[in-house]
Amino acid sequence: MNYENFFLHYPEPLQMQIHRLIQDDTKLLTYFEQKYPVGHEIKNDKQLYDYTCEFKQRYLKNTPRLDNCGYKKQTDLVKNALGTHAFKRQLHGGKLKAKHHIAIALQLKQAPEALLRCLVVHELAHFKEYDHNKAFYQLCCHMTSDYHQLELDLRLFLVLDGKGMNFY
Ligand SMILES: [Zn+2]
Repeated sequence: MNYENFFLHYPEPLQMQIHRLIQDDTKLLTYFEQKYPVGHEIKNDKQLYDYTCEFKQRYLKNTPRLDNCGYKKQTDLVKNALGTHAFKRQLHGGKLKAKHHIAIALQLKQAPEALLRCLVVHELAHFKEYDHNKAFYQLCCHMTSDYHQLELDLRLFLVLDGKGMNFY
């Protein structure tokens, strides 16, 4: 897999740093061992649902109910579909109701809590903002202040996992 594809939207000097990191397995592993020594304990869909709802309660009170949340094998990681937030409109007693489903890439089951949080926060922000616009990222940063750094680390984590070095 060409991992560089994950990082194309970053400024060039940063891409150079990323390149050096992901080409050197020892460096990449050390980066994660030092920054995120341990993994989270959110190991099943029930725990993931509860974890997600805690953030929703705290930051997005007046949003519709989250119907479903779970780990799922995502097929196209290059398009950054690490998580999905699906709105399905269904008819209930003559009324059209939206159902909200959040899916989190299976790779995140064994991962640092901060990186799972980054993805959860991202998918939750779609309750308010459909597009990845300025307001969207402001909301993400409101829910976890280091959002942008976490998003970068999340992509680096995919490289770690893809290379078979996921130790979480
Ligand atoms: Zn999104």
